[in-house]
Amino acid sequence: MATEQISKETVRASSVREGSRVVVIGGGPGGYEAALVARQLGAQVTIVERNGVGGSAVLTDVVPSKTLIATADWMTITESAEELGIKTGADHFPVDIERVHERILDLAQKQSDDIRGRLDAEGVTTLDGTGRLGPTHDGVRTVLAETAEGELELHAEMVLLSVGTHPRTLPEAVPDGERILTWDQIYDLRELPEHLIVVGSGVTGAEFAGAYNVLGSKVTLVSSRERVLPGEDAEAAELIETVFARRGMNILAGARAAGARRTEHGVVVSLTDGREIEGSHCLIAVGSIPNTSGIGLEEAGVALTPSGHVQVDRVSRTTAFRVYAAGDCTGVLPLASVAAMQGRIAMYHALGDAVAPLDTRTVSANIFTLPEIATIGVTEQDIRSGKVDGAITRLPIARNPRAKMLGLREGFIKLFSDRSSGVILGGVVVARNAGELIFPVTLAVAHRLTVDQMAQAFTIYPSLTGSLTEAARQLHTERN
Ligand SMILES: Cc1cc2nc3c(=O)[nH]c(=O)nc-3n(C[C@H](O)[C@H](O)[C@H](O)COP(=O)(O)OP(=O)(O)OC[C@H]3O[C@@H](n4cnc5c(N)ncnc54)[C@H](O)[C@@H]3O)c2cc1C
Repeated sequence: MATEQISKETVRASSVREGSRVVVIGGGPGGYEAALVARQLGAQVTIVERNGVGGSAVLTDVVPSKTLIATADWMTITESAEELGIKTGADHFPVDIERVHERILDLAQKQSDDIRGRLDAEGVTTLDGTGRLGPTHDGVRTVLAETAEGELELHAEMVLLSVGTHPRTLPEAVPDGERILTWDQIYDLRELPEHLIVVGSGVTGAEFAGAYNVLGSKVTLVSSRERVLPGEDAEAAELIETVFARRGMNILAGARAAGARRTEHGVVVSLTDGREIEGSHCLIAVGSIPNTSGIGLEEAGVALTPSGHVQVDRVSRTTAFRVYAAGDCTGVLPLASVAAMQGRIAMYHALGDAVAPLDTRTVSANIFTLPEIATIGVTEQDIRSGKVDGAITRLPIARNPRAKMLGLREGFIKLFSDRSSGVILGGVVVARNAGELIFPVTLAVAHRLTVDQMAQAFTIYPSLTGSLTEAARQLHTERN
């Protein structure tokens, strides 16, 4: 973030008064959540959105992928069916992928329509078009919106950029929407990929590889690093690799894709070491590029990072007067929850309400592999390296009575606390529904609760959260 680079002039951008005009470019979570706050604070708000409100988060990224994974999640339940006394046969629950994909696209569109309805009801004007920053006249910002009816010039006391990103591709692996795909094209498939080659083993690649594998595709995961999910808790990533391998996934570690080409009936992915892998389809999941070029940012004095992201400070100000930015286009943390928070913070700040600057240390994140990996706060690596003076405890899920009843074996809970005060600093949950289970730890980190405070709270018996309080008790023992 660029706190030190924000000019003094921009400090005056706060306290824009009630009745001010706000224009938001981009209607994803960064944009539409901000628009709702701005309306609440009495501003006139226009969103310029070129694809559909809800943004990529709703139409192509979060909602579709998590809907896909919801089906895959049900399929994993069959893994412990026999143990639980449920009779299963070969191919007992065949997947109708056409129906799965239809449901995904339908649900995403309905979610976008719901958001549009809410924005309309709150009095936000939504313009279908492409926006870019125009010149400033007497301190008033202009936004030029290219719509079906022609170009409109909008005037605003404050502009929020929340233009998101688009999938990065490889020059030698050009997506064709049929065999070589980005994640926003895969739901158009009418048949389950027989052999899906996923290029990229970050969060997106791992989630898709895991889901299609469970749904019945043969999957090869091409990972340029030595293990999947680089940068995540090492033990969690190792566990996911073990689960993937048990389910039959082929993980090519330390393999960098050079390109992908179509064959008569499928694709061939070539690696930089000369190897070639044949499959039916290839999914490119190698990151995202911010949608920040060609929309007048540099001309307006909005500084970009070398990667093309918009520089912002902790209250979402850019380097340009009365221009704020939120979400993935800022490169702060690519999460819908963070985009929405940055957008709200921008409005609170610009419209003169009380505002707490963004604190990324309290952001929880979840990787929807099956099992899921949820994290919050400091990492085990921070503690082991001496960067943080913390205590660590770890409990395997398999020891939890509720997990035994549910037939869950794979996963663990880790809790990290400050060695002297006992304040909870972070945690990792690897389990089914870890994204739900992490919330008590998030609350503890956000409100600086101690391990004793967590340990003294009641959990349901039997429950998976019982392991959280047990971990907290263990950390108490360690401190005495
Ligand atoms: C496959 C995948 C799965 C993900 N899963 C999760 C998850 O489970 N949880 C999570 O928190 N995050 C997830 N993310 C990240 C999440 O999608 C982003 O953090 C989120 O979309 C960021 O919101 P945003 O508002 O910044 O941008 P977006 O949602 O990308 O919205 C930006 C909008 O701006 C519009 N736009 C761009 N330029 C212009 C212009 N010039 N004029 C008008 N409109 C414009 C675009 O059309 C788009 O609608 C996932 C990402 C991917 C790729």
